[in-house]
Amino acid sequence: MEKIYDVAVIGAGPAGYNCAINFAKQEKKVVIIEKNNLGGTCLNCGCIPTKFLWQVAKTKQKISKSLEYGIKANIEQINFQDIITKKNRLIENLSKGILKLLTSNKVDVIKGVASFKSNNALSVNTEEGSIEIVSNKIIIATGSTCKTISNIEFDHKKFITSTDALNLTDIPKNMLVIGGGAIGIELSSIFSCFGTAVTLREICTQLLPNEDSELAGELAKVLARQGIKVEVACQDTLKDVDNFEKVLIVTGRKPTIEELNLKNINLSLDKKGFVKTNNYKTNIDNIFAIGDITGKGFLAYTAEQDANNVAENKNSIDPIPKVVFSFPPVASVKDVNFDSSYKNIVYKKSMYLSNARAQIEGERTGFIKVAIDKDSQKILGAWILGEKADELINIVSVMIKANMKVQDLSKNMFFHPGLAEIILEAIKNCS
Ligand SMILES: Cc1cc2nc3c(=O)[nH]c(=O)nc-3n(C[C@H](O)[C@H](O)[C@H](O)COP(=O)(O)OP(=O)(O)OC[C@H]3O[C@@H](n4cnc5c(N)ncnc54)[C@H](O)[C@@H]3O)c2cc1C
Repeated sequence: MEKIYDVAVIGAGPAGYNCAINFAKQEKKVVIIEKNNLGGTCLNCGCIPTKFLWQVAKTKQKISKSLEYGIKANIEQINFQDIITKKNRLIENLSKGILKLLTSNKVDVIKGVASFKSNNALSVNTEEGSIEIVSNKIIIATGSTCKTISNIEFDHKKFITSTDALNLTDIPKNMLVIGGGAIGIELSSIFSCFGTAVTLREICTQLLPNEDSELAGELAKVLARQGIKVEVACQDTLKDVDNFEKVLIVTGRKPTIEELNLKNINLSLDKKGFVKTNNYKTNIDNIFAIGDITGKGFLAYTAEQDANNVAENKNSIDPIPKVVFSFPPVASVKDVNFDSSYKNIVYKKSMYLSNARAQIEGERTGFIKVAIDKDSQKILGAWILGEKADELINIVSVMIKANMKVQDLSKNMFFHPGLAEIILEAIKNCS
């Protein structure tokens, strides 16, 4: 029997479930189809598990450094299996929250694999059999999965994906991490903190190849001080692969399209197989694509913004804060026209070492660099390496979006003693 909807969303990651809820709030009849657990990559094998494990590793670090505060404490044992169990419980709870959100907004949720029968009809393969769905609008939000490098297949034992790494039950003795992007750096930092001897290899000349070179260079030093062997400009990343217990390959993501049966609709894809879009529109009038499947963003919050834009028929472009959870984390944000519109940019820095709160917290490593347009005095960007960079960057993001200028902040008060004072100090240095 056919089920008829205004909107059918395929995939319940941050793109899919936010989009479904937004349409439902507009009184549309909405269905969302998900083949795995609700929450997608972000919840099940991305943002949430990595940040949870980072937090556990950070707790271990804090205990190790407690003598600085006159507290003598020893770590007797780390039960990695317990850590993974706790992580899975957290994911389960958050996934239940998403289900509640969807159902309370009257979105129909179907567990199964969706494939296209025609431009407005889907077949959903469920445990109970096949369901046919007809919908005016179809939103593809099927995300991305781990990609390997040539000549290597994931065996999920030695050659592992980021998802495998997040489900290991023992801490490996050593690990080769191939790929110096955000995911490679985060997993290197986490496992190194738990005692794994990590070698991190990147083919480009710096870690985080698209990031400010000063920030990337300082990050490499921080990782090296933690004991991670960092090799950039490495042409033969697999040279001594036999020496490693685990080889984690995190060199990028590939689109999840295999099961969609796209030959039935002639959907245009780009060279890498991602869905071609223009303002979320595909080459087929009633079919839209959002999130990782478009090959843009690769972040949960850009996926969520896509979701809201497509549901509200908008196309907002905002500065995108970027964060990598190393120890300490690094973060950056730039005005959307940073590279094209400004010719006269001034950079100023302020150091964590000179901040009282950083001293109190025993987190003295790091700096913030801000960029200002010399002519207009507008705040254009910031690059932070240091404690809570992940939170501080949002403050600069708001300043950029609000078109704030140096003089707008000269009389501003920030709580003292606070890490955010570092931002204010760097900006005031520009005046
Ligand atoms: C290790 C790691 C760490 C990350 N950390 C962060 C972070 O800290 N912050 C951040 O912002 N981003 C992070 N990301 C990226 C973030 O997870 C993704 O950008 C985000 O999940 C993309 O959302 P999406 O909805 O487009 O796709 P996904 O989250 O991948 O969701 C797509 C969903 O579609 C389902 N699906 C696919 N095909 C079908 C089908 N045919 N039928 C039914 N269902 C289908 C999939 O099962 C999946 O649940 C991380 C990613 C990884 C891998």
